[in-house]
Amino acid sequence: MFDSLSERLGGVFDRLRSRGALTEADVRTAMREVRVALLEADVALPVARKFVDQVTEAAIGQNVLRSVTPGQQVVKIVHDALVEMLGPDTAELEIDVTPPAVVMLVGLQGSGKTTTTAKLAKLLKKQGKKAMMASLDVNRPAAQEQLEVLGTQTEVNTLPIVKGQQPVEIAKRALQSAKLQGYDVLMLDTAGRLHVDQALMDEMKAVADISKPQEILLVVDSLTGQDAVNVAQSFSEQVPLTGVILTRMDGDARGGAALSMRSVTGKPIKFAGVGEKLDAIEPFHPKRVAGRILGMGDVVSLVEKAAQSIEQEDAERMAQRLAKGKFDMNDLRSQLAQMRNMGGLGALAGMMPGMKKAQQAMANGAVDERVLLRMDAMITSMTPKERAKPELLNAKRKIRIAKGSGTTVQDVNKLLKMHQEMQTAMKKLKKMGGIKGLMAMLG
Ligand code: GDP
Repeated sequence: MFDSLSERLGGVFDRLRSRGALTEADVRTAMREVRVALLEADVALPVARKFVDQVTEAAIGQNVLRSVTPGQQVVKIVHDALVEMLGPDTAELEIDVTPPAVVMLVGLQGSGKTTTTAKLAKLLKKQGKKAMMASLDVNRPAAQEQLEVLGTQTEVNTLPIVKGQQPVEIAKRALQSAKLQGYDVLMLDTAGRLHVDQALMDEMKAVADISKPQEILLVVDSLTGQDAVNVAQSFSEQVPLTGVILTRMDGDARGGAALSMRSVTGKPIKFAGVGEKLDAIEPFHPKRVAGRILGMGDVVSLVEKAAQSIEQEDAERMAQRLAKGKFDMNDLRSQLAQMRNMGGLGALAGMMPGMKKAQQAMANGAVDERVLLRMDAMITSMTPKERAKPELLNAKRKIRIAKGSGTTVQDVNKLLKMHQEMQTAMKKLKKMGGIKGLMAMLG
Protein backbone atom coordinates (compact mmCIF):
# COMPACT_ATOMS: atom_id res chain seq x y z
CA MET A 1 0.00 0.00 0.00
CA PHE A 2 1.16 3.50 -0.88
CA ASP A 3 4.45 2.15 -2.23
CA SER A 4 4.36 3.67 -5.67
CA LEU A 5 2.91 6.92 -4.35
CA SER A 6 5.72 7.14 -1.81
CA GLU A 7 8.23 6.50 -4.52
CA ARG A 8 6.80 9.17 -6.78
CA LEU A 9 6.64 11.75 -4.02
CA GLY A 10 10.13 10.80 -2.91
CA GLY A 11 11.40 11.59 -6.39
CA VAL A 12 9.67 14.97 -6.44
CA PHE A 13 11.15 15.93 -3.09
CA ASP A 14 14.62 14.72 -3.97
CA ARG A 15 14.62 17.06 -6.90
CA LEU A 16 13.37 19.92 -4.73
CA ARG A 17 15.90 19.28 -2.03
CA SER A 18 18.82 19.19 -4.39
CA ARG A 19 18.30 22.87 -5.12
CA GLY A 20 19.81 25.60 -3.02
CA ALA A 21 16.90 27.98 -3.33
CA LEU A 22 13.41 27.44 -4.64
CA THR A 23 11.60 29.68 -7.03
CA GLU A 24 7.85 29.82 -7.36
CA ALA A 25 8.25 27.99 -10.64
CA ASP A 26 10.09 25.14 -8.88
CA VAL A 27 7.23 24.78 -6.43
CA ARG A 28 4.62 24.85 -9.17
CA THR A 29 6.46 22.22 -11.18
CA ALA A 30 6.82 20.02 -8.13
CA MET A 31 3.15 20.39 -7.28
CA ARG A 32 2.12 19.40 -10.78
CA GLU A 33 4.10 16.22 -10.27
CA VAL A 34 2.51 15.68 -6.86
CA ARG A 35 -0.89 16.02 -8.49
CA VAL A 36 -0.08 13.40 -11.12
CA ALA A 37 1.26 11.09 -8.42
CA LEU A 38 -1.96 11.44 -6.43
CA LEU A 39 -4.15 10.77 -9.44
CA GLU A 40 -2.11 7.72 -10.33
CA ALA A 41 -2.64 6.48 -6.80
CA ASP A 42 -6.40 6.67 -7.49
CA VAL A 43 -7.09 9.74 -5.42
CA ALA A 44 -10.34 11.34 -6.56
CA LEU A 45 -9.73 14.29 -8.88
CA PRO A 46 -11.41 17.03 -6.79
CA VAL A 47 -9.54 15.79 -3.73
CA ALA A 48 -6.18 15.86 -5.51
CA ARG A 49 -6.89 19.30 -6.93
CA LYS A 50 -7.83 20.75 -3.57
CA PHE A 51 -4.78 19.19 -1.99
CA VAL A 52 -2.36 20.62 -4.51
CA ASP A 53 -3.94 24.08 -4.42
CA GLN A 54 -3.70 24.15 -0.68
CA VAL A 55 -0.08 23.05 -0.64
CA THR A 56 0.96 25.39 -3.43
CA GLU A 57 -0.61 28.33 -1.68
CA ALA A 58 1.04 27.48 1.62
CA ALA A 59 4.41 26.82 0.02
CA ILE A 60 4.51 29.96 -2.07
CA GLY A 61 2.88 32.23 0.46
CA GLN A 62 5.23 31.35 3.26
CA ASN A 63 8.86 32.14 3.66
CA VAL A 64 9.72 28.83 2.04
CA LEU A 65 11.42 30.52 -0.85
CA ARG A 66 13.81 32.39 1.39
CA SER A 67 14.55 29.45 3.63
CA VAL A 68 17.86 27.65 3.81
CA THR A 69 16.21 24.26 3.36
CA PRO A 70 13.22 25.04 1.24
CA GLY A 71 12.78 21.47 0.08
CA GLN A 72 12.37 20.30 3.62
CA GLN A 73 9.82 22.97 4.31
CA VAL A 74 7.80 21.85 1.35
CA VAL A 75 7.95 18.30 2.64
CA LYS A 76 6.61 19.55 5.94
CA ILE A 77 3.80 21.45 4.27
CA VAL A 78 2.89 18.42 2.18
CA HIS A 79 3.02 16.25 5.28
CA ASP A 80 0.67 18.53 7.18
CA ALA A 81 -1.70 18.70 4.23
CA LEU A 82 -1.68 14.91 3.98
CA VAL A 83 -2.52 14.60 7.66
CA GLU A 84 -5.37 17.02 7.21
CA MET A 85 -6.56 15.16 4.14
CA LEU A 86 -6.62 11.92 6.10
CA GLY A 87 -8.55 13.40 8.99
CA PRO A 88 -8.25 13.84 12.72
CA ASP A 89 -6.06 11.52 14.68
CA THR A 90 -7.12 8.16 16.07
CA ALA A 91 -10.84 8.20 16.23
CA GLU A 92 -12.12 5.88 18.92
CA LEU A 93 -15.43 4.11 18.89
CA GLU A 94 -18.09 6.20 20.58
CA ILE A 95 -19.61 3.70 22.90
CA ASP A 96 -19.77 5.60 26.16
CA VAL A 97 -23.53 5.79 26.42
CA THR A 98 -26.14 4.02 28.48
CA PRO A 99 -25.63 0.45 27.41
CA PRO A 100 -26.08 -1.15 25.03
CA ALA A 101 -24.24 1.14 22.63
CA VAL A 102 -25.18 0.14 19.10
CA VAL A 103 -22.50 -0.06 16.43
CA MET A 104 -23.86 -0.63 12.95
CA LEU A 105 -21.69 -1.65 10.03
CA VAL A 106 -22.79 -0.87 6.50
CA GLY A 107 -21.25 -1.36 3.10
CA LEU A 108 -21.36 -3.35 -0.09
CA GLN A 109 -21.31 -7.11 -0.20
CA GLY A 110 -17.81 -8.47 0.00
CA SER A 111 -16.36 -5.29 1.46
CA GLY A 112 -15.46 -7.19 4.62
CA LYS A 113 -18.37 -6.16 6.85
CA THR A 114 -18.90 -9.47 8.58
CA THR A 115 -15.22 -10.05 9.19
CA THR A 116 -14.82 -6.50 10.46
CA THR A 117 -17.81 -6.89 12.78
CA ALA A 118 -16.08 -9.85 14.40
CA LYS A 119 -12.71 -8.07 14.49
CA LEU A 120 -14.22 -5.08 16.27
CA ALA A 121 -16.14 -7.29 18.68
CA LYS A 122 -12.90 -9.06 19.51
CA LEU A 123 -11.18 -5.73 20.08
CA LEU A 124 -13.99 -4.57 22.38
CA LYS A 125 -13.83 -7.79 24.28
CA LYS A 126 -10.11 -7.24 24.82
CA GLN A 127 -10.98 -3.85 26.26
CA GLY A 128 -13.23 -5.57 28.76
CA LYS A 129 -16.51 -4.72 27.05
CA LYS A 130 -19.32 -7.20 26.90
CA ALA A 131 -20.26 -7.30 23.24
CA MET A 132 -22.92 -9.13 21.27
CA MET A 133 -23.09 -9.47 17.51
CA ALA A 134 -26.13 -9.86 15.30
CA SER A 135 -26.29 -10.37 11.56
CA LEU A 136 -29.16 -8.64 9.79
CA ASP A 137 -28.11 -10.05 6.45
CA VAL A 138 -30.99 -12.13 5.22
CA ASN A 139 -30.03 -11.82 1.55
CA ARG A 140 -26.71 -13.54 1.31
CA PRO A 141 -27.07 -17.27 1.96
CA ALA A 142 -25.48 -18.34 5.22
CA ALA A 143 -24.41 -14.81 6.15
CA GLN A 144 -25.93 -15.19 9.61
CA GLU A 145 -24.22 -18.53 10.09
CA GLN A 146 -20.91 -16.98 9.01
CA LEU A 147 -21.16 -14.46 11.82
CA GLU A 148 -22.10 -17.21 14.23
CA VAL A 149 -18.93 -19.11 13.30
CA LEU A 150 -16.84 -15.97 13.77
CA GLY A 151 -18.58 -15.50 17.12
CA THR A 152 -17.46 -18.93 18.21
CA GLN A 153 -13.91 -18.21 17.08
CA THR A 154 -13.73 -14.91 18.91
CA GLU A 155 -15.78 -16.14 21.87
CA VAL A 156 -18.24 -13.31 21.40
CA ASN A 157 -21.92 -14.13 21.68
CA THR A 158 -24.13 -13.84 18.64
CA LEU A 159 -27.87 -13.37 18.60
CA PRO A 160 -29.53 -16.77 18.06
CA ILE A 161 -30.72 -17.13 14.47
CA VAL A 162 -34.47 -17.19 13.86
CA LYS A 163 -35.13 -18.28 10.30
CA GLY A 164 -37.35 -16.09 8.19
CA GLN A 165 -37.09 -13.01 10.38
CA GLN A 166 -36.55 -9.71 8.56
CA PRO A 167 -33.73 -7.23 9.34
CA VAL A 168 -35.80 -4.73 11.28
CA GLU A 169 -37.30 -7.51 13.38
CA ILE A 170 -33.88 -8.99 14.02
CA ALA A 171 -32.56 -5.59 15.05
CA LYS A 172 -35.44 -5.15 17.51
CA ARG A 173 -34.86 -8.59 18.98
CA ALA A 174 -31.11 -7.97 19.21
CA LEU A 175 -31.63 -4.70 21.00
CA GLN A 176 -33.99 -6.26 23.47
CA SER A 177 -31.65 -9.17 24.18
CA ALA A 178 -28.68 -6.88 24.59
CA LYS A 179 -30.62 -4.75 27.05
CA LEU A 180 -31.96 -7.65 29.04
CA GLN A 181 -28.66 -9.45 29.21
CA GLY A 182 -26.65 -6.39 30.13
CA TYR A 183 -24.40 -6.09 27.09
CA ASP A 184 -22.24 -2.99 26.76
CA VAL A 185 -22.18 -3.03 22.99
CA LEU A 186 -24.38 -4.46 20.27
CA MET A 187 -22.72 -4.88 16.89
CA LEU A 188 -25.09 -4.98 13.94
CA ASP A 189 -23.77 -6.49 10.73
CA THR A 190 -26.13 -5.30 8.01
CA ALA A 191 -26.84 -6.74 4.57
CA GLY A 192 -24.81 -5.61 1.60
CA ARG A 193 -25.61 -5.53 -2.09
CA LEU A 194 -23.38 -5.78 -5.08
CA HIS A 195 -24.32 -2.23 -6.01
CA VAL A 196 -25.70 0.69 -4.13
CA ASP A 197 -29.50 0.57 -4.52
CA GLN A 198 -32.50 2.16 -2.91
CA ALA A 199 -33.80 -1.03 -1.29
CA LEU A 200 -30.48 -1.37 0.53
CA MET A 201 -30.57 2.24 1.67
CA ASP A 202 -34.19 1.98 2.85
CA GLU A 203 -33.46 -1.12 4.84
CA MET A 204 -30.43 0.51 6.43
CA LYS A 205 -32.42 3.59 7.36
CA ALA A 206 -35.17 1.48 8.91
CA VAL A 207 -32.65 -0.43 10.99
CA ALA A 208 -30.94 2.79 12.05
CA ASP A 209 -34.29 4.31 13.01
CA ILE A 210 -35.15 1.59 15.45
CA SER A 211 -31.69 0.81 16.81
CA LYS A 212 -30.41 4.39 17.10
CA PRO A 213 -26.75 3.51 16.61
CA GLN A 214 -23.98 5.53 18.25
CA GLU A 215 -21.79 4.49 15.38
CA ILE A 216 -22.66 3.83 11.77
CA LEU A 217 -19.45 2.70 10.21
CA LEU A 218 -19.02 2.37 6.48
CA VAL A 219 -16.85 -0.59 5.54
CA VAL A 220 -14.99 0.01 2.29
CA ASP A 221 -12.65 -2.24 0.36
CA SER A 222 -9.55 -0.16 -0.32
CA LEU A 223 -8.70 -2.30 -3.34
CA THR A 224 -11.68 -0.94 -5.24
CA GLY A 225 -9.97 2.41 -5.78
CA GLN A 226 -12.18 5.01 -7.44
CA ASP A 227 -15.26 2.84 -6.95
CA ALA A 228 -14.74 3.00 -3.21
CA VAL A 229 -15.00 6.76 -3.45
CA ASN A 230 -18.32 6.55 -5.30
CA VAL A 231 -19.68 4.03 -2.82
CA ALA A 232 -18.68 6.23 0.09
CA GLN A 233 -20.35 9.20 -1.51
CA SER A 234 -23.65 7.34 -2.00
CA PHE A 235 -23.73 5.94 1.51
CA SER A 236 -22.84 9.20 3.17
CA GLU A 237 -25.67 10.94 1.34
CA GLN A 238 -28.19 8.43 2.66
CA VAL A 239 -27.26 7.57 6.22
CA PRO A 240 -25.59 9.57 8.97
CA LEU A 241 -22.22 7.84 8.92
CA THR A 242 -19.94 8.36 11.88
CA GLY A 243 -16.82 6.83 10.44
CA VAL A 244 -15.15 4.69 7.83
CA ILE A 245 -13.28 1.42 8.05
CA LEU A 246 -10.96 0.59 5.18
CA THR A 247 -10.40 -3.11 4.63
CA ARG A 248 -7.68 -4.91 2.69
CA MET A 249 -5.10 -2.29 3.53
CA ASP A 250 -2.73 -5.26 3.50
CA GLY A 251 -3.27 -5.56 -0.23
CA ASP A 252 -1.55 -3.67 -2.98
CA ALA A 253 -4.10 -0.90 -3.34
CA ARG A 254 -2.58 2.32 -4.53
CA GLY A 255 -3.95 4.17 -1.56
CA GLY A 256 -6.30 6.57 -3.29
CA ALA A 257 -9.36 5.32 -1.45
CA ALA A 258 -7.72 5.98 1.89
CA LEU A 259 -6.65 9.42 0.79
CA SER A 260 -10.03 10.42 -0.61
CA MET A 261 -12.31 8.95 2.02
CA ARG A 262 -12.16 11.74 4.54
CA SER A 263 -12.83 14.46 1.98
CA VAL A 264 -15.68 12.57 0.39
CA THR A 265 -17.54 11.49 3.52
CA GLY A 266 -16.43 14.20 5.91
CA LYS A 267 -16.01 11.40 8.45
CA PRO A 268 -12.84 10.02 9.97
CA ILE A 269 -11.31 6.74 8.96
CA LYS A 270 -11.41 4.92 12.27
CA PHE A 271 -9.84 1.57 11.53
CA ALA A 272 -7.90 -0.27 8.86
CA GLY A 273 -8.35 -3.97 8.15
CA VAL A 274 -4.97 -5.49 7.43
CA GLY A 275 -5.62 -9.17 6.86
CA GLU A 276 -8.09 -12.01 7.02
CA LYS A 277 -7.29 -13.02 10.58
CA LEU A 278 -9.59 -11.74 13.28
CA ASP A 279 -6.96 -9.62 14.97
CA ALA A 280 -5.86 -8.03 11.71
CA ILE A 281 -7.33 -4.63 12.44
CA GLU A 282 -5.57 -1.43 13.44
CA PRO A 283 -6.67 2.00 14.55
CA PHE A 284 -6.12 4.42 11.71
CA HIS A 285 -3.54 7.07 12.54
CA PRO A 286 -3.47 9.81 9.90
CA LYS A 287 -0.14 11.18 11.13
CA ARG A 288 1.54 7.85 10.80
CA VAL A 289 0.04 7.08 7.45
CA ALA A 290 1.16 10.46 6.18
CA GLY A 291 4.61 9.72 7.55
CA ARG A 292 4.63 6.39 5.79
CA ILE A 293 3.54 7.88 2.49
CA LEU A 294 6.30 10.45 2.66
CA GLY A 295 8.80 7.86 3.81
CA MET A 296 9.66 9.91 6.84
CA GLY A 297 9.73 6.97 9.14
CA ASP A 298 7.00 5.62 11.29
CA VAL A 299 8.52 6.03 14.70
CA VAL A 300 5.32 6.26 16.70
CA SER A 301 3.97 3.08 15.26
CA LEU A 302 7.30 1.35 15.83
CA VAL A 303 7.29 2.27 19.50
CA GLU A 304 3.70 1.16 19.90
CA LYS A 305 4.40 -2.16 18.28
CA ALA A 306 7.46 -2.59 20.43
CA ALA A 307 5.44 -1.98 23.55
CA GLN A 308 3.04 -4.69 22.48
CA SER A 309 5.63 -7.18 21.42
CA ILE A 310 8.02 -6.94 24.33
CA GLU A 311 6.42 -9.18 26.83
CA GLN A 312 6.79 -7.91 30.34
CA GLU A 313 8.44 -11.11 31.43
CA ASP A 314 10.93 -10.96 28.64
CA ALA A 315 11.87 -7.45 29.61
CA GLU A 316 12.34 -8.36 33.23
CA ARG A 317 14.42 -11.38 32.39
CA MET A 318 16.53 -9.27 30.11
CA ALA A 319 17.02 -6.63 32.78
CA GLN A 320 18.22 -9.21 35.25
CA ARG A 321 20.65 -10.70 32.79
CA LEU A 322 21.89 -7.31 31.77
CA ALA A 323 22.62 -6.50 35.37
CA LYS A 324 24.89 -9.54 35.42
CA GLY A 325 26.48 -8.64 32.10
CA LYS A 326 25.16 -11.83 30.49
CA PHE A 327 24.05 -12.22 26.91
CA ASP A 328 23.75 -15.68 25.37
CA MET A 329 22.19 -17.06 22.22
CA ASN A 330 18.75 -17.14 23.83
CA ASP A 331 19.01 -13.42 24.46
CA LEU A 332 20.15 -12.81 20.93
CA ARG A 333 17.24 -14.85 19.70
CA SER A 334 14.68 -12.84 21.64
CA GLN A 335 16.19 -9.66 20.24
CA LEU A 336 15.89 -11.08 16.73
CA ALA A 337 12.28 -12.03 17.40
CA GLN A 338 11.56 -8.48 18.48
CA MET A 339 13.16 -7.20 15.34
CA ARG A 340 10.86 -9.37 13.31
CA ASN A 341 7.75 -8.40 15.23
CA MET A 342 8.26 -4.72 15.04
CA GLY A 343 10.16 -4.40 11.82
CA GLY A 344 12.91 -2.74 13.78
CA LEU A 345 15.10 -3.35 16.74
CA GLY A 346 14.61 -3.73 20.44
CA ALA A 347 15.94 -0.91 22.54
CA LEU A 348 18.83 -3.08 23.50
CA ALA A 349 19.93 -4.20 20.09
CA GLY A 350 19.45 -0.70 18.76
CA MET A 351 22.63 0.38 20.47
CA MET A 352 24.68 -2.63 19.53
CA PRO A 353 27.50 -2.42 17.01
CA GLY A 354 26.30 -3.15 13.53
CA MET A 355 22.72 -3.58 14.58
CA LYS A 356 21.71 0.02 14.14
CA LYS A 357 22.56 -0.28 10.49
CA ALA A 358 20.57 -3.49 10.24
CA GLN A 359 17.66 -1.67 11.80
CA GLN A 360 17.79 1.13 9.29
CA ALA A 361 18.12 -1.36 6.48
CA MET A 362 15.09 -3.21 7.80
CA ALA A 363 13.09 -0.04 8.11
CA ASN A 364 13.96 0.82 4.53
CA GLY A 365 12.96 -2.64 3.47
CA ALA A 366 16.52 -3.39 2.34
CA VAL A 367 16.95 -6.33 4.69
CA ASP A 368 14.10 -8.70 4.52
CA GLU A 369 12.76 -10.93 7.16
CA ARG A 370 14.49 -13.93 5.68
CA VAL A 371 17.84 -12.83 7.06
CA LEU A 372 16.39 -12.74 10.54
CA LEU A 373 14.63 -16.04 10.03
CA ARG A 374 17.91 -17.60 8.93
CA MET A 375 19.60 -16.42 12.09
CA ASP A 376 16.74 -17.82 14.08
CA ALA A 377 17.06 -21.14 12.25
CA MET A 378 20.75 -21.33 13.18
CA ILE A 379 19.99 -20.75 16.84
CA THR A 380 17.24 -23.36 16.64
CA SER A 381 19.78 -25.85 15.31
CA MET A 382 21.95 -25.39 18.39
CA THR A 383 21.57 -27.57 21.45
CA PRO A 384 20.43 -25.86 24.66
CA LYS A 385 23.98 -26.18 25.95
CA GLU A 386 25.40 -24.48 22.88
CA ARG A 387 22.87 -21.71 23.17
CA ALA A 388 23.86 -21.00 26.74
CA LYS A 389 27.58 -21.36 25.99
CA PRO A 390 28.28 -20.40 22.38
CA GLU A 391 32.02 -20.82 22.98
CA LEU A 392 31.39 -24.56 22.73
CA LEU A 393 30.92 -24.17 19.00
CA ASN A 394 33.89 -25.79 17.33
CA ALA A 395 34.29 -26.45 13.61
CA LYS A 396 32.40 -29.73 13.75
CA ARG A 397 29.48 -28.26 15.60
CA LYS A 398 29.36 -25.31 13.23
CA ILE A 399 29.08 -27.66 10.25
CA ARG A 400 26.22 -29.47 11.95
CA ILE A 401 24.40 -26.20 12.67
CA ALA A 402 24.89 -24.93 9.13
CA LYS A 403 23.48 -28.18 7.76
CA GLY A 404 20.61 -28.19 10.20
CA SER A 405 19.58 -24.66 9.35
CA GLY A 406 20.23 -24.74 5.62
CA THR A 407 22.96 -22.13 5.91
CA THR A 408 26.75 -22.09 5.58
CA VAL A 409 29.51 -22.16 8.14
CA GLN A 410 30.26 -18.56 7.14
CA ASP A 411 26.72 -17.64 8.12
CA VAL A 412 27.20 -19.34 11.46
CA ASN A 413 30.44 -17.45 11.97
CA LYS A 414 28.72 -14.17 11.17
CA LEU A 415 26.07 -14.92 13.73
CA LEU A 416 28.69 -15.78 16.32
CA LYS A 417 30.57 -12.59 15.58
CA MET A 418 27.43 -10.56 16.04
CA HIS A 419 26.73 -12.31 19.29
CA GLN A 420 30.28 -11.71 20.42
CA GLU A 421 30.04 -8.02 19.73
CA MET A 422 26.81 -7.77 21.61
CA GLN A 423 28.20 -9.69 24.52
CA THR A 424 31.21 -7.40 24.68
CA ALA A 425 28.97 -4.39 24.66
CA MET A 426 26.98 -6.00 27.42
CA LYS A 427 30.05 -6.46 29.58
CA LYS A 428 31.04 -2.86 29.04
CA LEU A 429 27.59 -1.90 30.07
CA LYS A 430 27.90 -3.80 33.28
CA LYS A 431 31.06 -1.92 34.09
CA MET A 432 29.24 1.32 33.46
CA GLY A 433 26.69 0.43 36.09
CA GLY A 434 24.46 -2.13 34.47
CA ILE A 435 20.88 -1.20 33.90
CA LYS A 436 21.41 2.34 35.13
CA GLY A 437 24.18 2.74 32.61
CA LEU A 438 21.91 1.38 29.92
CA MET A 439 19.22 3.87 30.78
CA ALA A 440 21.75 6.66 30.76
CA MET A 441 22.98 5.58 27.36
CA LEU A 442 19.48 5.40 26.01
CA GLY A 443 18.86 8.85 27.37
P1 GDP B 1 -19.05 -8.95 3.69
O1 GDP B 1 -19.79 -9.54 2.53
O2 GDP B 1 -18.92 -7.47 3.55
O3 GDP B 1 -19.60 -9.35 5.01
O4 GDP B 1 -17.55 -9.49 3.58
P2 GDP B 1 -16.79 -10.61 4.44
O5 GDP B 1 -16.58 -10.14 5.83
O6 GDP B 1 -17.46 -11.91 4.25
O7 GDP B 1 -15.37 -10.57 3.75
C1 GDP B 1 -15.14 -10.99 2.42
C2 GDP B 1 -13.74 -11.55 2.30
O8 GDP B 1 -12.78 -10.55 2.53
C3 GDP B 1 -13.43 -12.63 3.31
O9 GDP B 1 -12.75 -13.66 2.65
C4 GDP B 1 -12.55 -11.97 4.33
O10 GDP B 1 -11.66 -12.87 4.93
C5 GDP B 1 -11.82 -10.97 3.48
N1 GDP B 1 -11.36 -9.79 4.23
C6 GDP B 1 -12.08 -8.97 5.05
N2 GDP B 1 -11.32 -7.98 5.55
C7 GDP B 1 -10.07 -8.17 5.06
C8 GDP B 1 -8.81 -7.44 5.20
O11 GDP B 1 -8.68 -6.42 5.88
N3 GDP B 1 -7.74 -7.97 4.52
C9 GDP B 1 -7.86 -9.09 3.75
N4 GDP B 1 -6.76 -9.52 3.12
N5 GDP B 1 -9.00 -9.76 3.59
C10 GDP B 1 -10.10 -9.32 4.22
